[in-house]
Amino acid sequence: MTSANLPPVTSHDGATNFADLGLIAPITNRLTEMDYKTPTPIQAKAIPSVIAGKDLLAGANTGSGKTATFVLPILQKIHQAQQSAKKDKGNFVSALVLVPTRELAKQVADSVKSYAVYFNGAIKSTAVFGGVSANTQMLALRGGTDVLVATPGRLIDLISSNAIKLDRVETLVLDEADRMLSLGFTEELSALLALMPQKKQTLLFSATFPEEVRSLTDNLLINPVELQLQSADASTLVQRVFTVNRDKKTALLAELIKQNKWRQALIFVNAKNSCKHLADKLSKRGITAEVFHGDKGQGARNRVLDGFKAGEIEVLIATDIAARGLDIEKLPVVINFDLPRSPADYMHRIGRSGRAGEVGLALSLIAHADYHHFSIIEKKNKIRLERETFVGFEPDEEMPDDEYAVEKPMAKPAGTGKKKKKKQAPVNVDIWAGIGNNDSDNENSSTDDSTKEDDFQ
Ligand code: AMP
Repeated sequence: MTSANLPPVTSHDGATNFADLGLIAPITNRLTEMDYKTPTPIQAKAIPSVIAGKDLLAGANTGSGKTATFVLPILQKIHQAQQSAKKDKGNFVSALVLVPTRELAKQVADSVKSYAVYFNGAIKSTAVFGGVSANTQMLALRGGTDVLVATPGRLIDLISSNAIKLDRVETLVLDEADRMLSLGFTEELSALLALMPQKKQTLLFSATFPEEVRSLTDNLLINPVELQLQSADASTLVQRVFTVNRDKKTALLAELIKQNKWRQALIFVNAKNSCKHLADKLSKRGITAEVFHGDKGQGARNRVLDGFKAGEIEVLIATDIAARGLDIEKLPVVINFDLPRSPADYMHRIGRSGRAGEVGLALSLIAHADYHHFSIIEKKNKIRLERETFVGFEPDEEMPDDEYAVEKPMAKPAGTGKKKKKKQAPVNVDIWAGIGNNDSDNENSSTDDSTKEDDFQ
């Protein structure tokens, strides 16, 4: 982890440094070493409340420093408890962080370890998630752990094997909380909550909190501090949308990749088999791409993600399993080849770029059949983007005859048809320069057209 160009902060009673937020030396020293100069807005606003033991409902842009916001006070609390009391003997957990995907579990656990360096091994942290041996994780949990980062399914398995107990959980964090509270996870989450003490501190973090989810948070939180720091203005991410005929999407994508010579590009599609399909098509156009989805083995997933993070893989085609939380340093561009079905997932996908104050770019390629859906995504996310076209790939004004023959509505009587759209001026391709080169599972779902990919396990 390295420092980035995050905006300076003078909020929270003028606190401009981490010590002013109430953090202790082993933590602030580590942050100095990591070249974190000032707290980010979410850190400045939330850390004092979390230290004070309050429940929290925090919405903040992705890449805005959420992980440190919960990890730092948790480390401090555990350290202080260790000073004043003997450690519980047994396989207990003090702070539990639940996340929707394996990669996020690993990433958060790595952050915990990194922030905890100056506690000199006194604070134990462990990650448990599916796709890898449960035995190794059982061994790692022997004698308990202070901070446990977990995907729900594997955690439930480990609890049923008596590898870990939740009855002493003092802090519960739901990272990507809207996802954790959404339908797919309800059973697992209820089962886990039933095993935890009623009295505990609960912290919910997400970049998006759709209305439906807000009602569910009431049962989890007691007098929470509510922070909504999402702001389009503060975002360093440029969003653009290109209209194109469906049968020209791959060619446009290939053209964009070639022209812009992005150091890396993350491309989202909606189905696991579309990953390979698109990779094959790009390969025919001379572009090598790797794929990342929930049907790949965990070893392969790790290799691909590590390779992408290290910049060894330049083009990655992924399902929504890569949409949340992943911190890929200075990722220049995210491309929606397929639009996500949920407006919230749009925000999470594009949030892989433009993180931590870096310049980023999010492109969506939309064919006629996507126009309406994209308008809904815009409306729900309170954004409005200019429709652009790319020279040589301008879409037909009307949906081409052979496109979506089945879905096409019946023709209206003459004279009542839809108005012809005014043709947009094609953009000058030069405006890409500079941005592109900027240096600066649900695995339970067996259907391949699932857009919701999380790791219960
Ligand atoms: P997160 O939103 O927690 O995934 O963090 C996004 C990125 O910002 C990570 O690479 C962090 O290491 C980095 N980061 C978090 N807080 C700060 C800070 N106060 N100053 C500089 N970088 C930070």
